Amino acid sequence: MIGPHLPVGGALLKAADRAGAIGATALQIFSDNPTAWRRKAGPPTDLQGFRARLEGSEVVVLAVHGSYLVNLAGPDEAFWQRSVETMSADLAMAQTYAATLFNIHAGSHRGAGVDVGHRRIAAGLAMALELGAPEGRPRVVIENSAGGRDSIGSRVEELAALLEEILGAGVPARAVGFCLDTAHRWGAGYDLSDPNELDGLLATFDRLVGSEHLAMIHLNDSRSERGSRIDRHQHLGAGRIGASGLAAIVRHPRLARVPMFFETPGMDEGYEATNMARVRLLLAGEPLPELPAEALNMSSSRVVRRTPAASPPGPPPTVRALPQSAPGAVPRGYREAASRRR
Ligand SMILES: [Zn+2]
Ligand SMILES: [Zn+2]
Repeated sequence: MIGPHLPVGGALLKAADRAGAIGATALQIFSDNPTAWRRKAGPPTDLQGFRARLEGSEVVVLAVHGSYLVNLAGPDEAFWQRSVETMSADLAMAQTYAATLFNIHAGSHRGAGVDVGHRRIAAGLAMALELGAPEGRPRVVIENSAGGRDSIGSRVEELAALLEEILGAGVPARAVGFCLDTAHRWGAGYDLSDPNELDGLLATFDRLVGSEHLAMIHLNDSRSERGSRIDRHQHLGAGRIGASGLAAIVRHPRLARVPMFFETPGMDEGYEATNMARVRLLLAGEPLPELPAEALNMSSSRVVRRTPAASPPGPPPTVRALPQSAPGAVPRGYREAASRRR
């Protein structure tokens, strides 16, 4: 089960069609604006059609990524309340979408300390689940961080401690899991470029957190230095993690049943097909064609931006218009690979 995070932008049916067209078996979307507090009054009118088209496609797993504004870990009471309300609204909407996974960022303790942050996440998550999805469906999946300022969850040991708090707050084990974002792990210092390290990394997660709590993977390459705590996604196999490290992940038997989603640049410019084709090549153990230079410097799509709550203020990302020919510049080999489904 592998597929892209696709921007929806009011065109749900188009997103379902695009996922189907590239042969994705998993799809991640935002159910609402991830950088605004205001939530839609109700489900979109084309939701039935969206579900029907997904059912007619090979997509078997739908994940909803929650709002970037939500921060359950911080000490500010009003912000925490607002986060719980927004998350519960998003959770309820994700349930209406029939999503099975609902992904949030662990957030930032904002100087209050990791332990306080964990306790606040646990309490907030328990409350949001009670309000938004009391049956524990979709499963809430907490994403690891790259370790930027005050962010929670960059180390596996931290995820284990966080899980303990969450279970202690009365959340059933099946209602919560973790997402390992490969670019975030790389930013946090884990060497995913070396296939020989992978068994050890997975064994550590299974020992400290438990294999049943690895609910999903964000399969991203990274433009940043390992250990830099900076999160900048790159096309699969075209970044510093590289093809052999990512191939080891998609081919690992332990991860065969873990849904994977790539959050790579250029999803509005046709690069979802490029990266889906690269996934197939990685699965087949085949080398990846080089990408054209303009593909490697694309501004990141929204989904790959750092959590605002955890990021120091800085200049806005530079937005660079892409030449219209960008998708057409995809090497020919991809078309062929895209038609070879697996
Ligand atoms: Zn995320
Ligand atoms: Zn991610």
